[in-house]
Amino acid sequence: MAQINASIITIGDELLIGQVIDTNSAFIAQSLNHIGIVVKSRVAVGDDKEAIENALNKAISENQIVILTGGLGPTADDITKPLLNAFFNGKMVIHEPTLKHIEYIFEKVHKRPMIDRNRKQAEVPDTCEVLFNETGTAPGMLFKKDGCFIFSLPGVPHEMKWLTENKVIPLLKTSFVSHFVKHRTLLTAGIGESFLAELILDFENAIPSFIKLAYLPNYGMVRLRLTGTGSDGVALDKILDEQFELLKIKVADYLVTDEDDTMEVVVGKLLKANHQTVATAESCTGGYIGHLLSKHAGSSTFYTGGIISYDNRIKTEFLDVPTNILQTVGAVSKEAVEQMAIAVREKMNTDYAISVSGIMGPTGNTDEKPLGMVWVGVANKEKVVSKVFYLRFNRQRNIEITATQAINLLRLLIINKI
Ligand code: ATP
Ligand code: MG
Repeated sequence: MAQINASIITIGDELLIGQVIDTNSAFIAQSLNHIGIVVKSRVAVGDDKEAIENALNKAISENQIVILTGGLGPTADDITKPLLNAFFNGKMVIHEPTLKHIEYIFEKVHKRPMIDRNRKQAEVPDTCEVLFNETGTAPGMLFKKDGCFIFSLPGVPHEMKWLTENKVIPLLKTSFVSHFVKHRTLLTAGIGESFLAELILDFENAIPSFIKLAYLPNYGMVRLRLTGTGSDGVALDKILDEQFELLKIKVADYLVTDEDDTMEVVVGKLLKANHQTVATAESCTGGYIGHLLSKHAGSSTFYTGGIISYDNRIKTEFLDVPTNILQTVGAVSKEAVEQMAIAVREKMNTDYAISVSGIMGPTGNTDEKPLGMVWVGVANKEKVVSKVFYLRFNRQRNIEITATQAINLLRLLIINKI
């Protein structure tokens, strides 16, 4: 099976001066990779005719697929469309469905009259196949040259994403991909990447060559992904399932989920299944755990609420943490988080509680309490368990890791592992 290569060209002066971070090409690269297409290069160019043409010529000569983003808008700096029109020797014509769509957007959504500049967005080169854009005014375009597919997509990230998922990938699948790429993903917690590698060494050495194993560490946990490729989808599914079962047995002691779920989704499913509830008492995470627990639809069945006890006064007044604990061992302590968990669970009358208190940085540390030191507590009616973590990242990342680890600790309590 010959390899299919692609190149991504992102267009815009703002990308070159670092004003906008190029997230578009990362998304496109992931999407292409997912269906087995290899991205050979990612290039950013300015809003400059010659630079775009040079990048385009090079990309077309080296790849079967080229994807451009940016510069399709109605302003003078958006030069991609006229450039492509000339490049592929076309002439501009109105694309009626897009014109209707733009008129509709102005009438019903913006409630203001269109100007010619907007009508121009419905013009496309007659040499392209239009990729109708339900999410915006600039349509995507597909040109074909010497067996190469050249896609032009708007720069606005959510429009680019929609077109990639709904137009580009389905088109590429039917035109280029005659083989299957399938994934199986599981999540482990409580074991580092290198120990995990030791644990599954035999498995890794024995997997068939058309299946690849990837380690994806994040938030102090490791996701393992098997990716298989083959021309027979049914046979591939069967062998992937077999290998995945073997892998699950190997990592059973550390297995969190065999689905591609985040920690809060895993715990949410557990609580829902048990008809149980949880409340939170957060200091250093400032409500982030509550946010994670409530961000998915249906969370009201298990997440009751929380107290953001950022200031010590709130810990005392609302969560009954004795002032002598705060004065002697301090707010970042086993004693404080355990009391916080007990109090919030009782006050909110839930089955479980999570509490956290820590030093997220970049300041606030002392000799005994280094930056990144975090106490996490979880409680049910019978007991309260706490654990200390020493994190070493920046503030935002420390908050994210704390939240995920805290929710994991709750998971361990729910399944009677602590
Ligand atoms: P529009 O029709 O809105 O003008 P466009 O196709 O002309 O879309 P641009 O004007 O290049 O796109 O970019 C629109 C916005 O999308 C920019 O303000 C920028 O914030 C964002 N954007 C552009 N390119 C990228 C990229 N590669 N990665 C992330 N964001 C991008
Ligand atoms: Mg624009």
